[in-house]
Amino acid sequence: MRGILGETSGATLYMMGKRVGNMLPAATMDEFTATIRDLKIGIPEATITDEDHISVKLYECITCAGFTYTGEMFCDMESGIIAGLLENVHGKKAKSTQTKSWSVGYNYCEFEVFLY
Ligand SMILES: [Zn+2]
Repeated sequence: MRGILGETSGATLYMMGKRVGNMLPAATMDEFTATIRDLKIGIPEATITDEDHISVKLYECITCAGFTYTGEMFCDMESGIIAGLLENVHGKKAKSTQTKSWSVGYNYCEFEVFLY
């Protein structure tokens, strides 16, 4: 996948996703969940671990659901959108890192988001 898209595509997709997320109105975690569903990028389930750390599971991820094992994670657009939306909800900067994906053997995606 990386080979097709090029090595720098991940960062570009993340920044694009983040810009999209920043443009969408989301003021509460319920609105965050509703917006992700409306965008049809998946079904999110957010867990607030502590005030600066949110874990977001994404079921039915539009990018990788059903993907076979590749050992690589490439849901950078989703990661960016999640970070952008959570910035709006919390009024802080957010950095999202993908930690799980269909393509590394799970049947959902997971993103760890840190607010700063
Ligand atoms: Zn995914």
